[in-house]
Amino acid sequence: MRFEDALAAAGSATLKPGDLTVLQLNLGKLCNMTCAHCHVDAGPHRTEVMTRETMEACLRVLEACRAEVVDVTGGAPELNAHFRWLVDECRARGARVMDRCNLSVLLTAGRTDLPEWLAAREVEVVASLPHYRRRNTDRQRGDGAFDKSLEALRRLNRAGYGQGDPKRRLSLVCNPVGAFLAPPQAEAEAEWKRGLREEHGIAFDRLIALNNMPISRYLAWLEASGNLDAYMSLLVNSFNPAAIEGLMCRNTLSVSWDGRLYDCDFNQMLELESRPAGGRAARLADFDPAAFAARDIVVGRHCFGCTAGAGSSCGGALA
Ligand code: SF4
Ligand code: SF4
Repeated sequence: MRFEDALAAAGSATLKPGDLTVLQLNLGKLCNMTCAHCHVDAGPHRTEVMTRETMEACLRVLEACRAEVVDVTGGAPELNAHFRWLVDECRARGARVMDRCNLSVLLTAGRTDLPEWLAAREVEVVASLPHYRRRNTDRQRGDGAFDKSLEALRRLNRAGYGQGDPKRRLSLVCNPVGAFLAPPQAEAEAEWKRGLREEHGIAFDRLIALNNMPISRYLAWLEASGNLDAYMSLLVNSFNPAAIEGLMCRNTLSVSWDGRLYDCDFNQMLELESRPAGGRAARLADFDPAAFAARDIVVGRHCFGCTAGAGSSCGGALA
């Protein structure tokens, strides 16, 4: 089944955007890690990073679209030389900032002060941790990743994160270590909070449970392990129309490191550019809020990853 057919069966001929509230900026593919499930194909040797000039164009778009939230991602966004400047400029424009952080980057040279620095600017830290148990996390992120993640979480806790303060919100993102759907989010959150507190004395505010998307490195793993057909069938058979309303592409504009515009981070990785109405180019310099509000969102089979089960988005479960 095509995703378009599933949408049509649910009563939507096309997928239309709602209000644009989130501007997601991908600062590049440079990362200190090389995770097996990475949909960005990021790593230490990638050279694609957003320049200051492109960031300045992003800020002009932020002023034009008045998004409430700037969601900063990568790679490891903190490795971009202009990361701190960008955060300050977004805050100066009244936007809330979310930093999608891999945790271990907080232990790298020149970035150990980031927990306090981010806390002073009320930046939400959205940290990826595949599982609260060592074996599962190291399997996906590499040996030693779990211990580094815990040390970074302790530092964030000491900076005031994860204690229920909305100005120091610490969210953890988990994704299945295998070819199955994300666990029920509320149950998993309770289990993770208990596990991290009792076994490691670590606190966090909320858990975001994501389905793995069948693209990039995870797609390669599905193919190599013989799980691709079964996983795609699982996604299609778990299609949940109730997840459509909250799909992140409906309220987000995603900007690539080189200034191209996409409906979401996944489409960005697949190089499926946005198609603003009137045939305008999907570039920062051509951004026109009305043309973007009138567009059809570009969809494909990978979208079944967002609508399977309880649904899956940058903010977690949808239904
Ligand atoms: S999943 Fe995140 S931390 Fe891992 S390589 Fe990709 S961008 Fe880096
Ligand atoms: S992958 Fe998900 S967020 Fe992206 S366009 Fe498809 S449904 Fe929307």
